[in-house]
Amino acid sequence: MSAEYVDSYYSRTVNRDRPRQRLEGDVEADVCIVGGGMAGLATALGLAERGLKPVVLEAHRLGWGASGRNGGFVSPGFSLGEQSLVAKVGIEDARTLYRLSEEAHSLIRSRIDRYGIDCGPIQDGVVIASWFDNADAVRREVDFMRETFGTRHEFWPREKVRELYLTDRYHDAVFSPGSFHFHSLNFTLGIADAAEAAGAVLYEGSPVVGHRLDGDPKIVRTDRGTVRADHAVFCCSGYIGATHRRLALATLPVATYVMVTEPLGNRLADAIRAPYAVADDRFAQDYYRPLPDGRILWGGRVTAFRDPPAKLAEVMRRDLLKVYPQLDGVSVDAAWDGLMGYARHKMPQIGQYQPGLWYCMGFGGRGMCATTMGGELVASAIAEGDERYRLFEPFGLRFAGGPLAPAAAQIAYWWYQARDAMRR
Ligand SMILES: Cc1cc2nc3c(=O)[nH]c(=O)nc-3n(C[C@H](O)[C@H](O)[C@H](O)COP(=O)(O)OP(=O)(O)OC[C@H]3O[C@@H](n4cnc5c(N)ncnc54)[C@H](O)[C@@H]3O)c2cc1C
Repeated sequence: MSAEYVDSYYSRTVNRDRPRQRLEGDVEADVCIVGGGMAGLATALGLAERGLKPVVLEAHRLGWGASGRNGGFVSPGFSLGEQSLVAKVGIEDARTLYRLSEEAHSLIRSRIDRYGIDCGPIQDGVVIASWFDNADAVRREVDFMRETFGTRHEFWPREKVRELYLTDRYHDAVFSPGSFHFHSLNFTLGIADAAEAAGAVLYEGSPVVGHRLDGDPKIVRTDRGTVRADHAVFCCSGYIGATHRRLALATLPVATYVMVTEPLGNRLADAIRAPYAVADDRFAQDYYRPLPDGRILWGGRVTAFRDPPAKLAEVMRRDLLKVYPQLDGVSVDAAWDGLMGYARHKMPQIGQYQPGLWYCMGFGGRGMCATTMGGELVASAIAEGDERYRLFEPFGLRFAGGPLAPAAAQIAYWWYQARDAMRR
């Protein structure tokens, strides 16, 4: 395990931890990408595949942020949710946007094959289990997804749900057979290797501390060096800090938490009898998946304040026991937090702020697929003049609330949590 990644299931099981050099001195590139998470690396791979030379500057390790410590669910769509997307942009544009995310979903599968990325086992199937006793609402959601977006979503009646998930918390469910789950850090590092093999240059331990972005070339400074490039792309998400003031003001960093249990052996079947990833349909949802060695990787809770709750492992263990009390006594092997970058409108922010200055961020809690989409859109815009990134213009850099935003977001979260409790 690398000491520089947070201690997580992913860093403990990373299959190829190959540190990259720091940037020392001055280099030139076609494109300078700030941030080595999935958004930055997908952009780098997309550019390198198109024959350009990108340089990636990552402050810590590649995949150190949300991309290397998340739930591992890979589903098309966006944090905003599909019903709200249709309400916001109308059915035709919503279909186009959803299709872009589906193409990214297929691209992830084909890149895993093409570049031989070892991020498995890759398990198909994601279940959204309903916390509420309202089968009609679940059926309507399935019909909406099938009719509007042509998906293969299935309705699962509660008898089937309770056969596979031994809890009385859940009622009916939506099953998405095409979504899957995988080892997100190994995937992210596999994309990094592929980008490098195609000509990208990747630097770790190279925090961007300043820039001059008005003229040509763009100049991006780290603590020890400088990149001069025709374009700069900012992919810093919830970790943006003071990297770029305007982009930071459009970002609300939101923390969420994950833990992994000890291997459960036969006890896993006392609770979970299917290999799929599961989330429930509350605003403050739990999300989890069984791992190949019989552990449960369990995530949930969000907070706009950055400190992880004290005794995180115990807090998360209690969340698990609320759903599966029969697992009492199970211990937690690791627990960690991560920051998601949200825009106020909950859609990705993908665009060009001024000539040659791009942003690709704001993927929220549904970023594994959408970052690949964002990377492709920015890469094809820079390399080929593709204008599809403009589909995201309705979701621009809206002010996320500045210093008051975390408190407002936290209050909203508590309100939705209370509303879910009342609904049940
Ligand atoms: C705990 C957790 C669980 C999640 N579960 C899922 C899930 O199951 N499925 C799903 O689809 N999505 C999930 N998400 C969301 C998903 O992980 C993110 O949307 C996605 O990884 C965002 O990728 P990114 O590249 O934009 O950001 P990140 O992966 O956070 O990368 C940003 C990078 O920018 C770097 N950076 C910032 N500032 C600078 C600077 N000045 N100089 C250099 N580098 C800098 C950071 O060090 C960081 O590595 C989850 C997120 C979290 C936190």
